[in-house]
Amino acid sequence: MQEVRHNWKKEEILEIYNSPLMELLYRAATIHRKQHDPNVIQVSTLLSIKTGGCSEDCGYCPQAARYHTNINKNSLMSVAEVKELANKAKNSGSSRVCMGAAWRNVKDGSEFDRVLEMVRTINKLDMEVCCTLGMVTENQAMRLAEAGLYAYNHNLDSSEEYYKKVISTRGYQDRIDTIKNVRKTNITVCSGGIIGMGEAAKDRAGMLVALSTLNPQPESTPINALVAVEGTPLEKEKPVAIWDMIRMVATTRIVLPNTQVRLSAGRTQMSKEGQALCFFAGANSIFAGNKLLTTPNPAVDEDMKMFENLGLIPQKPFTKKEQPQTVEAENSRYKSLGENPKWTRPEYKIERNEKSRKKRGG
Ligand code: SF4
Repeated sequence: MQEVRHNWKKEEILEIYNSPLMELLYRAATIHRKQHDPNVIQVSTLLSIKTGGCSEDCGYCPQAARYHTNINKNSLMSVAEVKELANKAKNSGSSRVCMGAAWRNVKDGSEFDRVLEMVRTINKLDMEVCCTLGMVTENQAMRLAEAGLYAYNHNLDSSEEYYKKVISTRGYQDRIDTIKNVRKTNITVCSGGIIGMGEAAKDRAGMLVALSTLNPQPESTPINALVAVEGTPLEKEKPVAIWDMIRMVATTRIVLPNTQVRLSAGRTQMSKEGQALCFFAGANSIFAGNKLLTTPNPAVDEDMKMFENLGLIPQKPFTKKEQPQTVEAENSRYKSLGENPKWTRPEYKIERNEKSRKKRGG
């Protein structure tokens, strides 16, 4: 078995990231083959169950209320709508449904109760259920676990240093604390980040240090390529070069050997050949469906054709970990505590975020 290290140094990771590409690919692919079946890819469908109007200032995000983007906002979906979409996702080959709500953090109350019911409903469809709802407390994480949640996503986004140039409304430590709260349950952790936000390679390495230090390391790590959306502070960033994506995936595979590395946002900007190299380098999960929250994604048919061409097969649900049990609301041991914690609001200001907010008199 490949050793899992929690003591990576940034310089070591940077050296791997910058090594000659053929060496890097060989090293990453060798680890990948030892730890995973290289022909099996986990396929998730991302549903935006509540879109837009978010109070946060994440510089990459079109859903932040303070920026001026053209997204269609939606209040929280009904359980029936989510069930229908989950069934569709299942029929098109997804093993996991990931539900995203544009919230700073989870607040106890009727909306969270509805999300818990969505989790119960999808788990009963025998699909893995993941949520990304912002920060969560320990009791909220327990309630999600009891409902049958399989994974919770909370990205670190970047290195701690570069994070401060992208987000000012919540601290890096809050992210780590949310992951720690999730870890107190049997829910698996999904955490990764975004490249192409103007960060340097050392920040990419810094993010991998932070992820590798988590013990256990996340079961799933999405690597997103920024999709620069007009109206956001990062609207002018250039698309990520495919070589950077391949290097990042390969380095992630080496640093997080057991993790499922997910090619996430930005796949529409990548050629099939580029994606194939990412799979070779260790990516073994994708998001399917023609939308990722609010940004475009390849159509399912197109992905299935690519799979056929590359001889890849979708992973069955609960391959890595058994299906959680669903406890019905009336039998729950963890009741609502009426929590609405403040979490932190760091004091620093980010010039480009402020500029985008003020555009068109925001
Ligand atoms: S990334 Fe999430 S928390 Fe940040 S602005 Fe977008 S929806 Fe809100």
